[in-house]
Amino acid sequence: MSIDKDSINWLNNLLGSSIKFGEPMSKHTYFRVGGPADVFICPDNVEKLQEVLCWSKDKRIPYTVIGDGSNLVVRDKGIPGIVIVLTKCLN
Ligand SMILES: Cc1cc2nc3c(=O)[nH]c(=O)nc-3n(C[C@H](O)[C@H](O)[C@H](O)COP(=O)(O)OP(=O)(O)OC[C@H]3O[C@@H](n4cnc5c(N)ncnc54)[C@H](O)[C@@H]3O)c2cc1C
Repeated sequence: MSIDKDSINWLNNLLGSSIKFGEPMSKHTYFRVGGPADVFICPDNVEKLQEVLCWSKDKRIPYTVIGDGSNLVVRDKGIPGIVIVLTKCLN
């Protein structure tokens, strides 16, 4: 799934260092397996989380919420769309 340039700029402006593109899920799973997430975010607060969720629904971009990745096996192809980790904004 490709994320268009305007969307990348919008996401970067909103999330700054809390966003990564093509992030290996093997870094975020207990079993250290898994290909890239198109977009990987750890929103700083609930307001930014809400903005991203509304935006992803508008753009029809799928999102997956994960925790510590201790009950996840991710395929080598990775996860399309947005992977959201809530440990920062809902700690
Ligand atoms: C060595 C080991 C021992 C374990 N021992 C136990 C045990 O004794 N008892 C036990 O019950 N489990 C155990 N587990 C399994 C695991 O730790 C639990 O299932 C734990 O609750 C998973 O939490 P997580 O945050 O890592 O979830 P993740 O692995 O990150 O996610 C698991 C699933 O939950 C979904 N999910 C996560 N967060 C959210 C959210 N906020 N909203 C919506 N969906 C969400 C994910 O999309 C995914 O489908 C063990 C795992 C390992 C590796």
